[in-house]
Amino acid sequence: MEKQRFDGLGLSQEILKAVAKLGYEEATPIQSAAIPVLLEGCDLVGQSQTGSGKTAAFSIPAIEKVDPDLKAVQVLVLCPTRELAEQVCSEIHQLTAFKRGISAVPIYGGASYDRQLFELRKGTQIVIGTPGRLMDHLERGTLKLDQLKVVILDEADRMLDMGFRDDIAKILESAPEDRQTVFFSATLSREIRDLINRHSRDPRTVAIERKDVAAPAIDQWFYEVPPRFKTQALIRLVDFHGFHLGIIFCNTQRMVDELADALLAQGFSADRLHGGISQAQRTRVMNKFRNSEFEFLVATDVAARGIDVDHLEVVINYDLPPDPEDYVHRIGRTGRAGRKGMAATLTSGRDLFKIQYLEKFTRSQIRRGIIPSPEEIEGRKSEQLLGKVRGILETGSFTSQESLVACLLEEGFQSTEICSALLAMLLGQTGSTVATAAPESPKSPVRENHGPATEEELGEFGGRHAPRRPVRDEKPAFAKKKGFKPGPQKPQGKSFEKPFEKPFKKSFKKPFRKG
Ligand code: AMP
Repeated sequence: MEKQRFDGLGLSQEILKAVAKLGYEEATPIQSAAIPVLLEGCDLVGQSQTGSGKTAAFSIPAIEKVDPDLKAVQVLVLCPTRELAEQVCSEIHQLTAFKRGISAVPIYGGASYDRQLFELRKGTQIVIGTPGRLMDHLERGTLKLDQLKVVILDEADRMLDMGFRDDIAKILESAPEDRQTVFFSATLSREIRDLINRHSRDPRTVAIERKDVAAPAIDQWFYEVPPRFKTQALIRLVDFHGFHLGIIFCNTQRMVDELADALLAQGFSADRLHGGISQAQRTRVMNKFRNSEFEFLVATDVAARGIDVDHLEVVINYDLPPDPEDYVHRIGRTGRAGRKGMAATLTSGRDLFKIQYLEKFTRSQIRRGIIPSPEEIEGRKSEQLLGKVRGILETGSFTSQESLVACLLEEGFQSTEICSALLAMLLGQTGSTVATAAPESPKSPVRENHGPATEEELGEFGGRHAPRRPVRDEKPAFAKKKGFKPGPQKPQGKSFEKPFEKPFKKSFKKPFRKG
């Protein structure tokens, strides 16, 4: 199904502004298909998964139908759980940001009646709730549906599975006959079809095909990371693997800008691409990226369309794309021409379920990885460095530096001290600015763990077990003839919790090279 621009869908300026503020660049397939049908006023049965953008697909036309001067419930959204009700309500709040006089409230069990009563009496026009609590309010007479224009059943199949059939039927029977009825359901069982037949009029069906798209042979990983630690997690992954060329995808322009700024602040060579950037500037950025003039391109799907860069080492999904086909397009940019490629996806909470869906959709495995700790990153770098030195020693491919070494020996340094100092320099652990070394591409991705991430594993992000982040020695080791101790430097310094603190990575990263 084709995607469209939002401004071609006949929407109000206020909605277009809200959508732009959210950073949505174009409508997803379900939005492109459902919004015009709903704006026409038809009943609709939508079949699409969570993550397809279905919330905006049914919310946008419903919001457009609300009369701001009428202080009565005009739109009712039924959801199976309080979490979903809250999410839908939050998206509706964002979509109504530029509409004056329209408010929305979530109504679910377990929350205070008083607050809900207050909101309902105030004349809120959009109510998003779970069937049980909505029935309570209907029976008490505190929820009136006589002015209802649109009723939406989100995840209708799940609500039936949860035993809400009678409540749903009663709610629908209390609504005016001429209202618009919208069903969203992942499956269409006989029970669902009965419900639709009984409570809607000649509904149009919009189904997003689940094309089986085979993902290219790419190592796919996902990492469970709390949203506020995503940037740090991303930097660790890049450090650990020593990546030097990759695309990082975000879902919104705002996120692209924030992440690109954060990466630049951390010393990465990065640039950005999104629909809010002029075409001339986009072309410049793309050309630079093709010529490997910077390492990481942070982009939205729309802006990165058509980018063809053969030697990408990694594609990182900073956000999971709303459309599974976009996932396939994104990750397909790495691993080209028989090269090894890696796709890493950062997820949390509800998005974890989408990973299972993506696995089915792509008929491929997406393995759970663990974000490496600072110690593991250091260990990795040391291993790589030793491997390099060993290789040079074994092949004898170096020019003798005997006279320089002799100088230091004559000054009274031990040979082990000299070697340690040189290795520390290469590992960036001396505080001197000379250190640069080329990490080799890792042979395999991070260690694997198929079980769910435990509190412990996530603890490092949460602070309880926050490891200390190594920092460089204040004084150059050379300067401290007596104080210099060979061997690995102890990790010390500030906690990982602090966002964007100066990382230890850049001292080690090789200067950016072309090609
Ligand atoms: P949903 O299927 O409603 O659960 O939406 C999944 C996610 O996609 C939500 O986080 C939305 O914010 C996001 N989203 C919805 N529509 C778009 C769009 N047109 N472009 C980018 N992201 C979107």
